[in-house]
Amino acid sequence: MSIKKTSGRIRILPDSVSLRIAAGEVIDRPFSIVRELLDNSIDAGASKIDLHIKGGGTEHIRVVDNGIGMSLEDMEICYLPYSTSKINRMEDLDSLKTMGFRGEALSSIAACSKLEVISKIENNSPNKLIVHSSSLISLNRAAGSEGTVIDISDLFYSIPARKKFLKKPSAEATACKKTLIEKALPFPNISFRFYSDNKLKIFLPAATLKERLLSAYPDVFNTQLIHEAHSEHKEYKLRIIAGDPALKRNDRRYIQIFLNNRRINEFALIQAVEYGYSDFMPGGNYPVLFLFIDINPALIDFNIHPAKKEVRFLNLPEIHHSVVDLIKSFLSSFEYNYKKSIDEYTPSVGFSEFNNMFREQNHSYKPYKTQTDNSRNSIIEKIQNSVTTKDITNFKNVKEETIEHQIIYMGQLFKLFLLASIDTNFYFIDQHAAHEKILYNELRSKKHNQQDLLIPFLFELDRSKDELLNLNLKEYENIGISVEKLGDYKWQLSSIPELCAGKEDIIVKFIQSQSGSASNLETDLYADIACKSAIKDGDILDNITAVNLIQQTMELKNARCPHGRPVWFQVSREELFHFVGRL
Ligand code: ADP
Ligand code: MG
Repeated sequence: MSIKKTSGRIRILPDSVSLRIAAGEVIDRPFSIVRELLDNSIDAGASKIDLHIKGGGTEHIRVVDNGIGMSLEDMEICYLPYSTSKINRMEDLDSLKTMGFRGEALSSIAACSKLEVISKIENNSPNKLIVHSSSLISLNRAAGSEGTVIDISDLFYSIPARKKFLKKPSAEATACKKTLIEKALPFPNISFRFYSDNKLKIFLPAATLKERLLSAYPDVFNTQLIHEAHSEHKEYKLRIIAGDPALKRNDRRYIQIFLNNRRINEFALIQAVEYGYSDFMPGGNYPVLFLFIDINPALIDFNIHPAKKEVRFLNLPEIHHSVVDLIKSFLSSFEYNYKKSIDEYTPSVGFSEFNNMFREQNHSYKPYKTQTDNSRNSIIEKIQNSVTTKDITNFKNVKEETIEHQIIYMGQLFKLFLLASIDTNFYFIDQHAAHEKILYNELRSKKHNQQDLLIPFLFELDRSKDELLNLNLKEYENIGISVEKLGDYKWQLSSIPELCAGKEDIIVKFIQSQSGSASNLETDLYADIACKSAIKDGDILDNITAVNLIQQTMELKNARCPHGRPVWFQVSREELFHFVGRL
């Protein structure tokens, strides 16, 4: 095809086309309209916002707020492109506190639907604006109370192609509801109501942040398992509403990050949250945590995406660090060890119910008289002989250097649990998990003296792992592991940390199994080595090894395995006596 060389092939699109193209960037589904309208009501200082949708928002969307409203002059231009009351100059972006600033939402909405606005400011009469496909239909006096009511109908009637991509009304309604909740979480002082097809679906009264979360997700949270913590830094503040380690999820849905009141999907920060919990969450489980970052607006840039879906940070590594620190210090109160088990041990719920049951039925304990005291003594003697009384041993627990505790090792149960009484408690210790944690701590606490291998360990990788290793060479080097590329997908391991001597095969398997980012490389690798080197479920232990292991386990600062599982279970003497109705 020959193109005629004439001037005039390029032309400026008429407004009717360019406005619709621009609208596509901001508005693609009903929930994007909901997002923009809620932002506007929040920016207008409303304390009460109601959202109504019909047909999942495809038929009708209405937002009613009691904010400052718009004057007649403002209404004359509010639906025009780049009309905003929120910024005047480019520099204003550095101190921006509002949700909106691009002046594109109302114009985009007006370009693809029928828009009606009724608004009233203090001491003025209300006005009503009607705009269809960007064209002004009317702007007149109307009836209404202070604040703004925005009605959107016939969504995408002017862009039929877009209409085809809408999902089922129920799916659109779910997306609108999710958007409302995301908007409502960082603004607990605003009351929100959500109606779908005239039915009230959600009511979030003004509340504290923690209460807001509990009422937004009533099925997920348990009041007792949700906590609050915060930290302040020079340019930013962090606030977390966090589940304790008992609140586990199998996906990341409830790890949510808000930056200056906007939900963001910054994977590095989600990873920081996971890393913060890593000593407490068994693999494959995710915590519940809502992180609210309040940062100097000059340090971030939301102006890189029309719908503000992405953000750039100037100091992401620093924030990452602070998030991990805050979570770790918050979780330190959930660490458990021998001393805590003595100081804070409270019997389980089941136990108190059990106890009450006994009281109610008024049981009284009558000793079983047929056995003579002598025969009883001989049985006890037999038990004591079978128990390794010679293994009575002492240990000094974590924070209490001076007091010694007496361990009596009783043997192994189900080839996994070491049974021991220590002072007045009885312990079931998971031999694998306990040993794993001890090895893991040892690996983490030592400096990485690198040791060259006499014979380098050769290995191969498939294509994707090969690329990944190339990317992560520095991270491996940082923890004392050197690998060199020999050729296509062929590598050699040439040096490793001294403590990992003999574990070359584990290291190589670890490298071969990696996928994704290397941010938790060190802890993941050490957890892997510890797991594979530890005493296994099923291993029979001799008495000395068992007692040694128990002793070291009771000295652990946090008796959880590297994957977050508790390493022992405890029953007190008092509890046992209760169980048989003696107390
Ligand atoms: P932006 O929010 O980026 O400024 P919009 O297109 O969303 O742009 O809105 C344009 C202007 O209309 C806003 O700056 C604001 O002054 C006004 N406005 C929109 N919605 C409301 C509302 N609910 N209450 C008061 N003013 C509003
Ligand atoms: Mg806006």
